[in-house]
Order: sequence, then structure tokens, then C-alpha cells
Amino acid sequence: MDIQPQNSDPIDGQKPNDHCAVVGFIGRTTAYPYLIASLRTLQHRGQESAGIATYHDEIISVKKGMGLVHEVFTDRDMERGSILGGEVGIGHTRYSTSGSKGLENIGPFLVSNSYGYIAISHNGEITNANQLREQLKRRGVPFLSSSDTEVMLMELSTEINNHGIIAGFRNAVNRLRGAYSCAIMVGDRLFALRDPMGFRPLVIGYANEGYVVASESCVMDILNGEKIRDVRPGELIELTPDGPKSIFVMPSRQTAHCMFEYVYFARPDSVIDDVEVFQTRIRLGRTLAREFPAEADVVIPVPDSGRAQALGYALESGIRYSEGLIKNRFSERTFIMPNQKSRLSALKLKLNPIGSEIEGKRVVLVDDSIVRGNTMKHIIAILRKAGAKEVHVRVGSPMIIAPCYFGVDMKTKDQFIATGKTMEDIGNEIGADSIGYTSIDGLVKSITIEKNSLCISCLTGEYPVPVGGEKYSGQQELESF
Ligand code: SF4
Repeated sequence: MDIQPQNSDPIDGQKPNDHCAVVGFIGRTTAYPYLIASLRTLQHRGQESAGIATYHDEIISVKKGMGLVHEVFTDRDMERGSILGGEVGIGHTRYSTSGSKGLENIGPFLVSNSYGYIAISHNGEITNANQLREQLKRRGVPFLSSSDTEVMLMELSTEINNHGIIAGFRNAVNRLRGAYSCAIMVGDRLFALRDPMGFRPLVIGYANEGYVVASESCVMDILNGEKIRDVRPGELIELTPDGPKSIFVMPSRQTAHCMFEYVYFARPDSVIDDVEVFQTRIRLGRTLAREFPAEADVVIPVPDSGRAQALGYALESGIRYSEGLIKNRFSERTFIMPNQKSRLSALKLKLNPIGSEIEGKRVVLVDDSIVRGNTMKHIIAILRKAGAKEVHVRVGSPMIIAPCYFGVDMKTKDQFIATGKTMEDIGNEIGADSIGYTSIDGLVKSITIEKNSLCISCLTGEYPVPVGGEKYSGQQELESF
């Protein structure tokens, strides 16, 4: 199992990565430009590959490739937009958590059956994908990739073939386990589907001349549109040029919204399940200041991830906020670092302190989370070299101690600095004068969603649905959906 950071960016490469972004558009105008703008807006959810599928003249055309959205879909493509013509389409950016990084694993996935073509963009992770793959293989269904999304597509295609579109969706959802927020095309029809626990976000909106489904609400702002609402956990919605139509909502006694969307993954200008991400991060910083105060001269964020929490900490504590670390926005996105020494120099290329803000000062250094801890250790070294008198590390989320099985690349316990350690052990290991993590109760209160309605499994090691070899919290009986 790959436990190396798949993004080798010296700052952000140490953060967990979300699986994907999904988008879809249907209207009375060409879908392609809306899909590109939406994918570019959601680039933070996946930088490994991008793809778009559109329906035109009774076929679905797909273009996809490795790289950022603007690398896969160039300005020249925009001028030649008719290659992906049509007024309905879906798009995807990917960061692999399930399946390898090969071209065959890039979304959207496409298959044809007696209803025509079906294409899917999926964010999340199907926890029973291996089992379903074996069952489908025994029924003669061929697979071209190692992706769980292809398993979901084949399950859907088989059920739709046998029972029709809506019954097919319902049957497939009954067999799928885990996290899935999807944009799906069946011929020229566009659907939005969210799993019954609502692990990953999914919203629908209106933009200019059509209707949109997207992973995050900020897409609607960028398209000069308006969010209509979140897709409900367990809900299938059909988007038509005349508006959205809720087709069914599977029973969902309790949800498991991913707490990490609020802490780190989602853009701060998004609103997820009626909770604004930016204000949540401010509240997390305020909570942190109350739970772990510090005698200090200045609060400095790890850029960019720690900004909002640092601002909250400064507001609550009354300690001055400063941008004491400058991030080079033009440093190469990928940087091959063969050993620890070159990792440090790569970090220096990316991050430089402002001496006057640090020298002789007692610094509160704030980040949103710590996964492996290497970057934090090096940033502390940079601050000390710049003359910091004390460095007090404050983390705007609790300690991560357990793997994620729902679409985030945190798969083994030995990749977490917190495994088997106390908070003080971690502080000593990274060279901090003191350290404090937001408590689980503080996190839940800051998100303002009930604890039982959130997924906090990577903080507790207890899972809301049964996962092989892990503790099950009984949050939701699988049989109920
Ligand atoms: S385990 Fe952690 S990262 Fe994964 S869905 Fe749950 S809260 Fe999110």
C-alpha cells in the first residue's frame, strides 16, 4: 500500500488529499465551458488528472488526461469546443485513493448498454468494491481498470439494463457501501446522486442558462449562478433544462459528513450542508485559543492551510496576527526530493520567513491539521533560524490516529505522527516549546453539526459503517439503506 505523499509539494504534500471533484451541467447552451470553469474552481480537490464527457448526436464523447485542468483542457481546446459539443455533460478531477494512477483510472468512466451510454464522475470510495467486482466478474462483466468507480458504473449499468433507469439506480444504491457523491449521465439525462450517509458534499444550483451539480457551492458563485440546495444524503436528483426533480431519497437515519471537509479539504468560500467553511475554521481557531492559550507576541499561520484558524486564534486571544511566513506561489507544483536534506531545501524554496515578524518573538504557529509532522518540524526549524524566541504549535483539529476508508489518502496508521504518542511526545518530536490540538468536542461544536451526524473516524478509530478489521460505532445499520 502506498503511504508516500502522492503530491510531492513540500507544504501541501504533507496534507491528506481528497479523492475527487465532480461537476455536471445541463441547459440550453453548450455545456463544455461551464464544465471547464467548474473543474478549475474545484482544482484543489484533485490535481492528478481531469476529464469531461458530453452528450451530442446520440453519443457521449470523452476527453481526459493527466495533469491540471488547464493542462488537459487548453485554450486551444476551448476554441475548438465543438469536439465536446452538446448541452449536457459531466466532469471530474482526480486524486487517486482507490485504484492505481494509470490513464485507465481517470474519470469520467463510460460504458454502453441497451439504454445507450452511461458516464459517471465519482467522489468518495466504495468500501465493498472488491466484493462487487468479483460478483460482477462471475457474471461475465469485464473490467478495464482497478478503480472502485468502474465497479460502481458496472453495477449501475447492469441494474439499469435489467430493470430500467430509476429502478436500476435504486437497486444499485442498495448494493453499494461507502462514500459516493456523483454526477451521472444516462444518455442525455443528467443525475446527481449522494450516498445515504452524505460523507462527501454535493450541491445543485442554477447558472445562467442551465442547471449545475458540483462538489462544492463555490462553483455556483464562480459561474455567477446560485446554489439551490445540498443534495440530501441518499437522494437521486434528475437535472433537466427546466429544473431539478428529486427522484427518490433512500432512508438515512443518520449522516456521517466528513469533518475534514470543514477543517481542510473544501474551499473556505463554500457552504456545505448549510454550514459555511470559512466561519467554521474561524470558530476552530477561537476554540483552540480557549482550550490551549499561550503567552505569545504574534500568531502566524502555516500558509495557506492554517490561515483561517490562525485568524480565529488571534481574534479570541487578542494576540496580534501576522503573515510571518511567505509562500512562493510560483514554485513548481511537483518537486522531486530524493532525501530529507533536499526536502528541507525544497521547503525553503517554497516558504521564507519575514525576519522582523519573528526575531526575538514568542510565536504561536497555527496549522489546520498535522498528519505526518515532517513539514511542521521543518517550519519550526525555519522559525528558530529566523530568531524566534519560542514556538508554540497550535493545531485547529484533533490528532489523526486512524485510516480513512471513505475517499481520503490516509490508509495506514504508521503514516500518522500521532500513532501511539501523547500530545507532549509530538511536541518534543517536532521541536515545539508547547503544542495543543483542538479537542473532539471543540471540533464538533465549531462545525455546529451534531457529533452523531459527522464522520470523525480518523480521530477515533470507530467507523460509521462496518469496515474490515476496524471498530464499528453502530452509527448506521447498513440494512437500512
Ligand atoms: S475518516 Fe476522517 S477523512 Fe475520512 S471521511 Fe471520516 S472524517 Fe473524513
